[in-house]
Amino acid sequence: MKYFAGIDIGSTAIKISIANEDKNLVGHKITASGSMFYKYAHETLETLCGEIGIDKEDITYIVATGYGRKIFKEADENISEITANAIGARAASKEHSDEIKTIINIGGQDSKAISLDEEGNVTNFAMNDRCAAGTGKFLDACAMNLEILVEELGEKHFASTGTPLSINSTCAVFAESEIIGLLGNSHSVEDIVCGVHYSIAKRIVKLVKRVGVKDGIYFDGGPALNSGLVNAIENELSKKIFIPKFPQITTSYGAAIIGVDSYNYENNDLTLN
Ligand code: ADP
Repeated sequence: MKYFAGIDIGSTAIKISIANEDKNLVGHKITASGSMFYKYAHETLETLCGEIGIDKEDITYIVATGYGRKIFKEADENISEITANAIGARAASKEHSDEIKTIINIGGQDSKAISLDEEGNVTNFAMNDRCAAGTGKFLDACAMNLEILVEELGEKHFASTGTPLSINSTCAVFAESEIIGLLGNSHSVEDIVCGVHYSIAKRIVKLVKRVGVKDGIYFDGGPALNSGLVNAIENELSKKIFIPKFPQITTSYGAAIIGVDSYNYENNDLTLN
């Protein structure tokens, strides 16, 4: 059996997926990017190999992607995260893969909307990487201000009772001051969380509209684990969105799949596809 690794070095987290020659996901691991991307990426790969019972040397082909992809010099190939995300999203959607036409990806420091054609090719994309509001870092900062974990944002959202509060600041730094002001005015953590989610959802909808809202909407990246944010985006779009089982690793899985195809192409091995 041959193994293929996709390494997504993101601004916030390193995600590694390992696929077999049939492109099935056999393991994945997520660790914080920290300050030493290169060292942590190698350690994460080593640990993941141990967890699935293979040696690092058993990996036939490595594809690196994401913000820090160029630092992983041992990769056989490096690829843009837009392409890897598109391929991973369709593979992660399994029997619904042909239905995926729009991808929303929210990462630690940026957010993207990607439009796909019938064959899954990327036809358009829009990105916000200028402003932290609308990204994972903003959610992390809000959770910290509210003294809760990002993992708790979903349940707080659904515990909110009134109309979602409006967070009007368009800059993450001012939004943090606004949140502190709301706390000072005795608003509940739950209502503030709900307001934060709707303010991000409104930004995301604007981003998606730049590429066109096509049905078959898929949402991934770490913040897709936040069910409250998912709810706010669905309400703002008035559409149901599909969340894969492991939303944070889609891009690394796509990179691993690209590795299978590149290896087959380079070796002209038509028995693998
Ligand atoms: P990047 O690729 O830019 O490193 P990720 O897609 O890994 O970004 O997303 C990182 C963000 O995901 C974090 O900043 C955090 O806000 C969010 N996140 C991670 N895990 C969870 C979780 N369990 N629940 C809610 N949000 C999460």
